[in-house]
Amino acid sequence: MKIAFIGLGNMGGPMALNLQKAGHSVQAFDLSKAATDKLAAEGSALGLPIATHAASAAEAAQGAQAVISMLPASQHVESLYLGDQGLLSQLPAGTLVIDCSTISADSAKKVAAAAGARGLPCIDAPVSGGTGGAIAGTLTFMVGGEDAALALARPLLEKMGANIFHAGAAGAGQTAKICNNMLLGILMIGTSEALALGVANGLDPKVLSEIMRRSSGGNWALEKYNPMPGVMETAPASKGYAGGFGTDLMLKDLGLSQENATAVKAATPLGGMARHLYAVHSLAGQGGHDFSSIIQLFTSKK
Ligand code: NAD
Repeated sequence: MKIAFIGLGNMGGPMALNLQKAGHSVQAFDLSKAATDKLAAEGSALGLPIATHAASAAEAAQGAQAVISMLPASQHVESLYLGDQGLLSQLPAGTLVIDCSTISADSAKKVAAAAGARGLPCIDAPVSGGTGGAIAGTLTFMVGGEDAALALARPLLEKMGANIFHAGAAGAGQTAKICNNMLLGILMIGTSEALALGVANGLDPKVLSEIMRRSSGGNWALEKYNPMPGVMETAPASKGYAGGFGTDLMLKDLGLSQENATAVKAATPLGGMARHLYAVHSLAGQGGHDFSSIIQLFTSKK
């Protein structure tokens, strides 16, 4: 299949590579030349002829049977797809549209409605699993949209992920995603607090991590994404918090969960507290670093 892939950052780049690896022909586009160049270099190192020459999203979408987007936030997705100049107005009827970005459920519904009006099957399909999952092709997809659109998308999602859940109608994938990420934001803070407390008492963070991983405090951060530098070689914490999932992206997701909680009158006190702590961390200049660097709020600078 010819696929246009828009947004080649920490997640989109490896996802696009996995589609090309699976034998699809990917035409990739990103506003950032650095992101496009990085993907072209990785593709050629792997012997994968991924096309990165498109000068715009519309050019990448020429002749494509499917468009997949992996952009930072709602405003980027709306500006890509909607309006007179938006991509939806230029795609031939029947082109499959899959947005994998984490955005508001309302934005996802707007895109789905506009796509439906033009005869374009469309799903929101945000992901979980981090950059490791994107590289390994083991992401979890949380899908919102009609059964028929998901049936068309499933063979492509299977090349990028290991779990595909149909959460409900358009926007439902995004609702599931903000619930998950609110929990992730909270548990990364809790894990950081616990590790910092142990270290302040002289415990070895590796030993403490292993104890908690195998005890009732065990969680995804301790399994795959330890926030303490040097505990887990593959985690962003051991790479200067580079790459991974940016603090500002977590802040965006917690903002979405709090906006939604306000709209439906849900009580999410820990989600609200987590949003404030990531905001403080971002204001301290850590917005571009991986969100697990939140542990720096609790560790000594001495
Ligand atoms: P990123 O910032 O690394 O990449 C986003 C890319 O989109 C950038 O390269 C940027 O230049 C590009 N872009 C922005 N607007 C564009 C446009 N109009 N046209 C083309 N390209 C454009 O972000 P990421 O970490 O890859 O995350 C992407 C999405 O996935 C976000 O919504 C994020 O919340 C979500 N997500 C990220 C992770 C993670 O671990 N990084 C995990 C799950 C979900």
